[in-house]
Amino acid sequence: MPRATVARISTEALRHNYRKAVAMAGGARAMAVIKADGYGHGIQTVARALREDASKFAVACIEEALAIRGAGVTAPVVLLQGPHSPEDVATSADQDFELVIHSEHQLRWLEESVRVPALWIKVNTGMNRLGFAPADIAGVMELLGNAELASRVTGFVTHFACADDANSDNTARQTACFLDAVDPWPDLSRSLGNSAAHFLEGQPLFDWTRPGIMLYGGSPMIGQLGPELGLQPVMTLEAELTSVRTLKPGESVGYGASWTATGETPMGIVAVGYGDGYPRHAGTDTPAWVNGRRIRLIGRVSMDMLAVDLTEAPDAKPGDKVELWGRNVSVDEVAQHAGTIGYELLTGVTVRVPRVHE
Ligand SMILES: *Cc1c(COP(=O)(O)O)cnc(C)c1O
Repeated sequence: MPRATVARISTEALRHNYRKAVAMAGGARAMAVIKADGYGHGIQTVARALREDASKFAVACIEEALAIRGAGVTAPVVLLQGPHSPEDVATSADQDFELVIHSEHQLRWLEESVRVPALWIKVNTGMNRLGFAPADIAGVMELLGNAELASRVTGFVTHFACADDANSDNTARQTACFLDAVDPWPDLSRSLGNSAAHFLEGQPLFDWTRPGIMLYGGSPMIGQLGPELGLQPVMTLEAELTSVRTLKPGESVGYGASWTATGETPMGIVAVGYGDGYPRHAGTDTPAWVNGRRIRLIGRVSMDMLAVDLTEAPDAKPGDKVELWGRNVSVDEVAQHAGTIGYELLTGVTVRVPRVHE
């Protein structure tokens, strides 16, 4: 029998969340962002589950785009970082991948290419990772026109730095900067919203949004959990209780003996640890769920196991299933306890954990 530690993937919840993104996009279309193995859910499972709904996908690199084709899904795929080599340009033209162009060296590869796929031009409006300065957009468009590539340009993209914070005025500033920069090309598409932008009151989203984390039920907003935003958790990380014992007062558990019982404490060992992608920084009091009860972690997370306090679920026994995150414990709550974000936990589930889709 295989170890019972699994990541259950609800394709129904995924579709629900995609439809919610579309409903919140205010007339814009939504390209489903499924990079990083579909945020850890399995890129082929995610692509197949959304193929009826999503008319476009987006990923970080060409390997991911090819995996979508490997799943038999033929919709256009946007490469959010564009080509990483001249060969990527040719492959993209063959495969109907669309390239986000952000740098001079990519423009040179395009000029030297025989076949060029659809292009998006990235405008740097303040994130300052990738993209051309607003003042350089006219020059880029002129260069592409001279290379007879103007007709390949479908639109402009920018990315927000602070859309997760509804109180930041950064997003409005970036939006204004973007609209000003692309104003001379009103017929081309505009794409500026990540998941968070869907939740910002009055935020214009134009032609294409790029929802990622919200598709998986994770929260893109500071201080709010996915379910509070009407999103359904797609992944349930589940493992078995492998042993149960009662700690006596003064007995501690785990590496560093970092947690010590003050009274008699029923304790369980769960077969999941940081070797599975459960965060080691999730300490004592991080919630989990067993037999309809909320319980808590105690002590340090090990590579292959962790300890839970079963005071709230005294009937729990070896073989019972523990939910580490999912419908009852939001991945965002676990992330808060671990000092990180749901994105990192979902993408960090390791290959040791089978993804089971239902
Ligand atoms: C990853 C990514 C997204 C999706 O972001 P979420 O916060 O997960 O919605 C959108 N646009 C770009 C350029 C990205 O790299």
